[in-house]
Amino acid sequence: MIGISILGSTGSIGVSTLDVIARHPQRYRVTALTANTDVEGMRRQCLQHQPQIAAMADPASAEKLARQLKQPAPHIQVMAGAEGLQAAATHTDTDSVMAAIVGAAGLSPTLAAIRAGKRILLANKESLVMAGQFFMAEVERCHATVSPIDSEHNAIFQCLPPNYADGLDHIGVERILLTASGGPFRHWPMEKLQSATPEQACAHPNWVMGRKISVDSATLMNKGLEVIEAHWLFNAPPERIEVVVHPESIIHSLVAYHDGSMLAQLGNPDMRTPIAHALAWPERHHSGVNMLDLPTIAQLNFERPDTRRFPCLRLAFEAIQAGGSAPAILNAANEIAVAAFLENKIRFTQIPEIIENTLAQTPSGGVETLSDLFAIDRTARHYAQRHIKAHNSWTY
Ligand code: NAD
Ligand code: MG
Repeated sequence: MIGISILGSTGSIGVSTLDVIARHPQRYRVTALTANTDVEGMRRQCLQHQPQIAAMADPASAEKLARQLKQPAPHIQVMAGAEGLQAAATHTDTDSVMAAIVGAAGLSPTLAAIRAGKRILLANKESLVMAGQFFMAEVERCHATVSPIDSEHNAIFQCLPPNYADGLDHIGVERILLTASGGPFRHWPMEKLQSATPEQACAHPNWVMGRKISVDSATLMNKGLEVIEAHWLFNAPPERIEVVVHPESIIHSLVAYHDGSMLAQLGNPDMRTPIAHALAWPERHHSGVNMLDLPTIAQLNFERPDTRRFPCLRLAFEAIQAGGSAPAILNAANEIAVAAFLENKIRFTQIPEIIENTLAQTPSGGVETLSDLFAIDRTARHYAQRHIKAHNSWTY
């Protein structure tokens, strides 16, 4: 039996992970689940999957959960806060940790799992964007393995030979191509984007996801974060990472080789495929996802991304090129701007403005240690908040 901890189990990725796990009861056992405030979701998951630990980041939610589980499941240990997340990430019976918390909040528990030598199934791209250098150094130092869950990176992983960490030239790779659906506003003119609402941004044409990543997909920041993620995961310089808009979301990404070959991974847009792949790797097993019917799809389309209407993609490329603390600042400002957009405090088109201004204003001192990075993250959030306050006279 393989023990699995799921960080962020009540979210979109968490729920899909439990769906795949439940299809293989002889193979997997859930050792720990974590969430932030969704007590009801966690209560149901606990009763169904019987973890040893259930941790809520929010202490009041942990208390509530403990009261609700006391009768039906006294054997489940309910924990709270950073300590609870850490215990879930490092449990002795855990072999693999699904890192599926959204945002920079996922970094510390994921690092704890790396240090405990767990196999990391990485969905939480923000932790790599924020702290790529430290993250990968810890992975190497602790001999941990990271299996990408993000569908693009999982696709690339499937198209690369096992020794990809040596560098692209060693394995004959010319470029990595990340596909992007283009999001719900792919055809929207600049003027219309100004009045885009959170509901419209969260109505993704192909994928059902959490609200933050849905907005990121609409701004194309999701693809920008994924460029940075690919840079760290595959040791790929940014100029060898290309983004291609592919509205059908059938090809999940490609690798172009020196000899002219392009390898791609295809599948229905359902996160249970990359989740099942990473869980079972190097083997394969069922995920619950239907096979593609190519004649039904009939046609696949491709176009170049428009960074004039979607400047977030350009900002992300610039941040990884600048290096140092720039990606952490980009990520922090984006998290603040997206939250403000979801609360109707700013316009959709102000998201890149806030990020660009925060990047320009935040002193990007040296990042020698992880605590330097956390300090820069806090400063960037502060600048982004200030910027929003100066602009939040706007309402729908
Ligand atoms: P979601 O919002 O649906 O779920 C987030 C989970 O994290 C929830 O369980 C929530 O309780 C928990 N959480 C939120 N804030 C927290 C905090 N401060 N401390 C502790 N826990 C907290 O998000 P999602 O769509 O499942 O995405 C999760 C991660 O996976 C993100 O980093 C996202 O970019 C990545 N990802 C998601 C998809 C997808 O299809 N949903 C695809 C690729 C990558
Ligand atoms: Mg993705």
